[in-house]
Amino acid sequence: MQGFGETIFAEMSALAVRTGAVNLGQGFPDTDGPSLIAEAAVDAIRAGHNQYPPGVGIPSLRAAIADHQRRFYGIELDADTEVLVTAGATEAIAAALLALCDRGDEVVTFEPYYDSYAACIALAGAERRVVTLRPPSYGFDPQDLDAAITPRTRLILLNTPHNPTGKVFSRDELDHVARLAVEHDLLVVTDEVYEHLVFDGEHVPIATLPGMAERTLTISSAGKTFSFTGWKIGWISGPAALVAAVRTVKQFLTDVNGAPFQPAVASGLALGDGYFTDFTADMRAKRDLLCDGLGAAGFEVFVPQGTYFATVDVRSVGADDGRTFCLELPERCGVVAVPNVVFYDDVDAGRTLVRFAFCKRTEVLEEAIHRLAALG
Ligand code: PMP
Ligand code: GLN
Repeated sequence: MQGFGETIFAEMSALAVRTGAVNLGQGFPDTDGPSLIAEAAVDAIRAGHNQYPPGVGIPSLRAAIADHQRRFYGIELDADTEVLVTAGATEAIAAALLALCDRGDEVVTFEPYYDSYAACIALAGAERRVVTLRPPSYGFDPQDLDAAITPRTRLILLNTPHNPTGKVFSRDELDHVARLAVEHDLLVVTDEVYEHLVFDGEHVPIATLPGMAERTLTISSAGKTFSFTGWKIGWISGPAALVAAVRTVKQFLTDVNGAPFQPAVASGLALGDGYFTDFTADMRAKRDLLCDGLGAAGFEVFVPQGTYFATVDVRSVGADDGRTFCLELPERCGVVAVPNVVFYDDVDAGRTLVRFAFCKRTEVLEEAIHRLAALG
């Protein structure tokens, strides 16, 4: 693991604590999710759900995950064999890569990429090949994707809605990825933790495209959908044989996790459609507030279609290096952000880009905007 130091999220949150700055760096909500779900966890603790749960996850949560996939996407899953509960999406990503990759295999992913992808590909002894998403639309050149696939490619690691860009992959883009996967007989691991945070367009799970259900593992997490990021309840679903392989790895990572949180998350997944639409609308308003504020402060903003994050190009405010900009920002105006360059192999492509999280209370966003306006 040489070359992998502290994550940018830990570094930037520590900087925020040290300087007292408003933390728009690490993506976590600054309010709790629904009290109904929190109460369900407290009830579960009181009711004695405090010992090891089943390794695959408790039956009611697996059933709720299967119901969720059917209700929102028409995906049919056998809750007993095709769903696995994990310690957050983070463990699902790690266990999937460790389960599916041999030493020397290649994993194709898009950059900028969520930081754990590079680390887990390395842990699996595999190699990453990246296709660059470029602003303003964060599209990719289909030829770049075609060229990234070699005889050693084992799988494509996808993330939509995409962190850090906020891009939501279109059906056409996903069709292209799917066609290549079928043509080259590749697996797809898709990280869809922001599935309920799409503000423009629609979330298309790649597992719903022709020929994909049998080759796709889909990952999501209660952290994002219910604003309980510290509970670390995630899940992975797909063909039984692939899920079983991931389960084998999970046995030796965490084995089991989050006993009292599992029934609570099951109750969250059963909430009516109103919860999900209100959640999206609330976060859309935060996106608009922050993007308008950043624009008014003089930043060139790439307005995200989804996720918790908006990216700016700091050249628009006279800076030229995102990392230096982020390190100086707390001192200059009391705000913390994340330099996107850490998510790129091609450092020139990400050098001037900086990510701000908007999953914060309105007054916190307003305060950050007020401080950023003083930059100009
Ligand atoms: N994937 C992406 C794209 C993320 O942004 C995050 C951040 N939370 C994760 C995975 C990890 O999710 P979890 O907290 O459920 O482990
Ligand atoms: N996913 C969150 C982000 O991108 C943070 C997760 C973490 O702290 N590792 O900011």
